Amino acid sequence: MADRYLHLTGTAPGRFLTRRLGLPQPAPLRRWTLETPHLDGPLLHLTAGASAVTGVAEALRTSGLTVTERADRPAAIVLDATGVATAAGLGDVHAALHPVVRSLAPGGRIVVLGTVPSPDDHHQAAAQQALEGFVRSLGKEIGRGSTVQLVRIPVARIPGGASAHAAGSTLRFLLSPRSAYVSGQVIELTSAAPESGSDPTPITDPAAPLTGRTALVTGAARGIGAAVASVLARDGARVIALDVPGAREELERTADRLGATALPLDITAPDAADRIAAAAPDGLGVLVHNAGITRDRRLANMPADRWASVIEVNLDSVLRTTDELLKTGTITRGGRIVATASIAGIAGNTGQTNYAASKAGIIGLVRSLGPRAASDHGVTVNAVAPGFIETKMTAAVPLFIREAGRRMNSLSQGGLPVDVAEAVAWFAQPDSTAVNGQVLRVCGQSLLGA
Ligand code: NAD
Repeated sequence: MADRYLHLTGTAPGRFLTRRLGLPQPAPLRRWTLETPHLDGPLLHLTAGASAVTGVAEALRTSGLTVTERADRPAAIVLDATGVATAAGLGDVHAALHPVVRSLAPGGRIVVLGTVPSPDDHHQAAAQQALEGFVRSLGKEIGRGSTVQLVRIPVARIPGGASAHAAGSTLRFLLSPRSAYVSGQVIELTSAAPESGSDPTPITDPAAPLTGRTALVTGAARGIGAAVASVLARDGARVIALDVPGAREELERTADRLGATALPLDITAPDAADRIAAAAPDGLGVLVHNAGITRDRRLANMPADRWASVIEVNLDSVLRTTDELLKTGTITRGGRIVATASIAGIAGNTGQTNYAASKAGIIGLVRSLGPRAASDHGVTVNAVAPGFIETKMTAAVPLFIREAGRRMNSLSQGGLPVDVAEAVAWFAQPDSTAVNGQVLRVCGQSLLGA
């Protein structure tokens, strides 16, 4: 559904009127296109005090931006704050960013690199946790479509010192137009490399990093699932698009458009995992659990069948098929599982006790299974938690609540299905090995559950 307010504030009279009334001023977001794959300007690399990790400059070069230590109008700023280990050291964060924050180009990116707060050193832990409050606040005040994130690099457990090497795919995503609707996020990289060796899987074709991999996306006939299928196909994957038999026509249209295979199948069917395995005889490199439903009612008015159907589609079928496809080795080593949570599963939502329970359950699944799937199967498990995304699901939301959902975030607008899809594609990258057990909110830094 079109965001008319965003169009209005894109016109001169609309901007004048809405400014006079003190209303939100959403900046149009620039997303990835083949013609403009990168941010438009250099990347300013700053360090607060002394860095505690090696390889930051190398990791930044993978962003495709020109890396510099001085720039008048940077498109991105990366502040290496890994060495900040005391309260006094936080002054270096202020000293580095205060003079340059105004010069960031519209639609720019700020990424702060930190380390995991230490359980053994409460001064270091305090200073590193402080970065989270800093980043979330800067995300709220920066405006003009810019975003701010914190990436934590594991320091203590890496023999021979910490390296930012494993942060390559994450920086590529965050420092690009692909992460337009992601802000205020904390991403904690792991030091464990699931694919036996410590080096990430090499990418032979950077324009199509998923070449040779099969990706299955559930709920792919329309909405976010169709966008995920499209972005994974763009990245070179052979895509199997799954949706309920009742959506067969729409599913086949989507699959045809993408050169994907359509698999009409209800994910709650008892033999769903077997049928998925049969459709992917060479195994799955990427499994995206996207299918989801809502059956909203307040708990007092909610019959058991509405409760059960939401838990069954959104959570139980995800648990069952994941277990089965891991057990049978259908998800191959180096594989990626991405599930779909929601900010409702973090913040809760009136009328959605069933839906929020199912989506919070997804977060529990990802956090628990991620480390074990990595060590037992060489597979990572992550989740996206979309905020307000413009789809049929949200078009059905009553007008007032819909408008509130769109504006109550740092970017003052709803996201698009492609924003969620780009986050899924980042999790799916062959060199996203260090990204595991994470829940990434794609919500423009929604005020809900912040
Ligand atoms: P949508 O309703 O447009 O699409 C969901 C798809 O899942 C449909 O094609 C549907 O047929 C399919 N599906 C439903 N039950 C299925 C089953 N049993 N087996 C196979 N397929 C099934 O929804 P959407 O907005 O694109 O949402 C996609 C996912 O993102 C869902 O998990 C949803 O909960 C989540 N999400 C969406 C938003 C949003 O703002 N749109 C926000 C947070 C989370």
